[in-house]
Amino acid sequence: MGLTLVQAWKEAKTRLEAAGIAGPVIDARLLVEAAAEATRVDIVTDPYRPLTAEQEATLADYLARREKREPVSHILGRKGFWKIMLQVTPDVLTPRPDTETVVEVALREFPEHAAWSVLDLGVGSGAILLSILAERPAARGLGVEASEEALAVARDNAAALGLAGRTALLRGDWTAGLADDAFDLVVSNPPYIADHVIETLEPEVRDHEPRLALSGGPDGLSAYRILAPEILRVLKPGGRFAVEIGYDQKDAVEALFREAGAEDVRTIRDLANRDRVVAGAKKPLETGA
Ligand code: GLN
Repeated sequence: MGLTLVQAWKEAKTRLEAAGIAGPVIDARLLVEAAAEATRVDIVTDPYRPLTAEQEATLADYLARREKREPVSHILGRKGFWKIMLQVTPDVLTPRPDTETVVEVALREFPEHAAWSVLDLGVGSGAILLSILAERPAARGLGVEASEEALAVARDNAAALGLAGRTALLRGDWTAGLADDAFDLVVSNPPYIADHVIETLEPEVRDHEPRLALSGGPDGLSAYRILAPEILRVLKPGGRFAVEIGYDQKDAVEALFREAGAEDVRTIRDLANRDRVVAGAKKPLETGA
């Protein structure tokens, strides 16, 4: 007879553990919840609710896909990030908790009702830009993205979150065509994995996530070499930036931004205590006082 919610969760956990999946408990819960159309609370308050035959079949399909190392975000087509839920496809980098540090740093110095213009370079799913806009009701955003498929995902996400009216999304090559001195805040999570490292990543990333969003060239720094001077060009005087970096890229990326003329350059760690975000500002205009 039909599995109950709690049995389904335990069996799912056992299967994923046997397949060598890191974090089988959480993955099992997320897949059971989705297959059984149950909430996290249901598993606790209604643990003996039976799954329908159809729900069991859906769960079996999800588990088979996860055993082949397909990311949970691709199986479910969504991922929670910061305080929002995002649609996710294989055309975008799945939003990661590490990247919430970019949002946190950007919001720290962003007054709640400021009508700032925000630029996100390589906007992907929209995770960073839409999280910021959701928290700053007077802000407007522009997301630039090289991939048309990723832009379509960002557009859907902006619409689903009711942010389309304040979000412009453009296909483009980083800052090409953007005016000087135009933005109050620039954020980015560019590709920063050195090419030779990509093959050593987990299969979930290596085989399922877009190379365009990962590949940072021979030393991982190719994007920052373009971005540092360009971010300083498009920022308004006094404007701020926050970009994600790899855990071992602090010195190199700080140096690139200092060479580009940035002030107040510093690195912020993520919740796992790894260097994760380089932030700074463009020199304000002289007041002449
Ligand atoms: N942090 C991601 C990873 O390690 C990479 C993201 C990026 O290159 N921007 O998979």
